[in-house]
Amino acid sequence: MSQAEAIRLPGAHYPVAVVGGGQAGLSMSYCLRERGVEHIVVEANRVGQEWRERRWDSFCLVTPNWQCRLPGYPYQGDDPDGFMVRDEIVRYLENYVSFFRPPLVEGVAVTRLRRSPSGLFELSTSAGDFTADQVVVATGPYHTPSVPPMAQRLPDHVTQVHSSRYRSPDQLPEGAVLVVGTGQSGCQIAEDLHLAGRRVHLAVGSAPRVARFYRGRDCVAWLDAMGHYDKSIDEFDDAGAVRMRVNHYVTGRDGGRDIDLRAFARDGMRLYGRLTGVSGEALEFADDLKVNLDHADAVAEGIKDAIDAYIATNAIGAPAEPRYVPVWEPAEQPRELDLEAAGITSVVWSTGFRRDHRWIEAPVFDGRGYPMHWRGATSTPGLHFLGLPWQYSWGSGRFEAVGRDAEFLADHIDASRRMADVCGTLTGAPTGLASALPIG
Ligand SMILES: Cc1cc2nc3c(=O)[nH]c(=O)nc-3n(C[C@H](O)[C@H](O)[C@H](O)COP(=O)(O)OP(=O)(O)OC[C@H]3O[C@@H](n4cnc5c(N)ncnc54)[C@H](O)[C@@H]3O)c2cc1C
Repeated sequence: MSQAEAIRLPGAHYPVAVVGGGQAGLSMSYCLRERGVEHIVVEANRVGQEWRERRWDSFCLVTPNWQCRLPGYPYQGDDPDGFMVRDEIVRYLENYVSFFRPPLVEGVAVTRLRRSPSGLFELSTSAGDFTADQVVVATGPYHTPSVPPMAQRLPDHVTQVHSSRYRSPDQLPEGAVLVVGTGQSGCQIAEDLHLAGRRVHLAVGSAPRVARFYRGRDCVAWLDAMGHYDKSIDEFDDAGAVRMRVNHYVTGRDGGRDIDLRAFARDGMRLYGRLTGVSGEALEFADDLKVNLDHADAVAEGIKDAIDAYIATNAIGAPAEPRYVPVWEPAEQPRELDLEAAGITSVVWSTGFRRDHRWIEAPVFDGRGYPMHWRGATSTPGLHFLGLPWQYSWGSGRFEAVGRDAEFLADHIDASRRMADVCGTLTGAPTGLASALPIG
């Protein structure tokens, strides 16, 4: 526990409680402190837990370092266009803590949150109960590893691991590996195994991809210049669908490069469509491999089209670059695979995460368990969320824009607090926010 003398949890009352000590919780704390709002940050484990414990050994950011712009603490290293590796990310967060010394309690999990009839929030924790006028839930977007039920039908001799538990090729038993899923994690883990000389079978899903670099710049830099990171969720007609979008796959490894599944296949990786069934040793796949590869390439090329148009419109001097030419096409779309015949001894489920907010007793969730909010403010006065993907913009669930969202919420929390001083009670979301609820 840091600043232990100043922090008194059981029985204490705080104007604001921030739950979660990742980049979102820390950003919130910084912004509250800037406004003189007394608060506490409660972290179940250690700062940077997610990066420490749920990323593989060769993990590095997919987004360039310059996008790490936590409030008051932008990236300060000498490689702004590079991609921090796992331990550097943890150090960046630890240094942020040293920089402003938030009122942080580590090793304390909030197990229940509810609002009492008097309007106070009651928080039960592993270290006892306390209360708060307002709460910011900053517990991250990725809670419970999601593995499809068919995993239970895999034979016992096959080692199964979720991507959040994958560390390195050596961790898996000798033999071939099946990686299921081609979001950012699945693609990078498949590459990690492939580079280590493992025989990899990859079940390819419908995630899009983006080129790393195009016409002299990182595509992220182009997209930033084109305003994509400033576009708010309110500008989309289908906000719910946008929030469910899967991220584009690309890597920051070795200075950054494309992830081209076709090149992997050319070099020996075996590609399949989506995994649809498991029956003992027999696996079944959809016939969507070609469609999925074509779709990923079409998205990547579409982004290049947009970059070309931006360059032309703004008369920017940028080198020409030839377009991508597919280096491999599936001659067939294998629908079946026998585990034993293929020598597969392990499966890495790169199938994402589910949300788990069951510890929060408040009527703010939609049917899928997603908190209904506008810019993090909910219809329950004083209850806020921070760090949700597309909370307000593309970078909301990431380093890029969590700070902007924290600034907004801190203003809102501070204003609510001042209003409460005048009115005697928290009045909830301001009219402008309330009219926007719920958007789920
Ligand atoms: C594989 C992967 C790659 C990613 N790559 C990038 C990238 O390249 N660039 C980028 O900007 N973003 C990336 N992200 C997204 C994002 O930056 C991370 O998910 C980041 O960890 C989110 O930070 P956070 O603070 O919102 O949540 P978290 O880091 O998840 O922090 C939440 C904290 O809350 C704590 N907590 C949870 N429940 C409780 C409780 N009940 N009581 C107390 N504490 C609790 C947890 O211990 C945790 O420390 C990636 C995510 C994943 C999964």
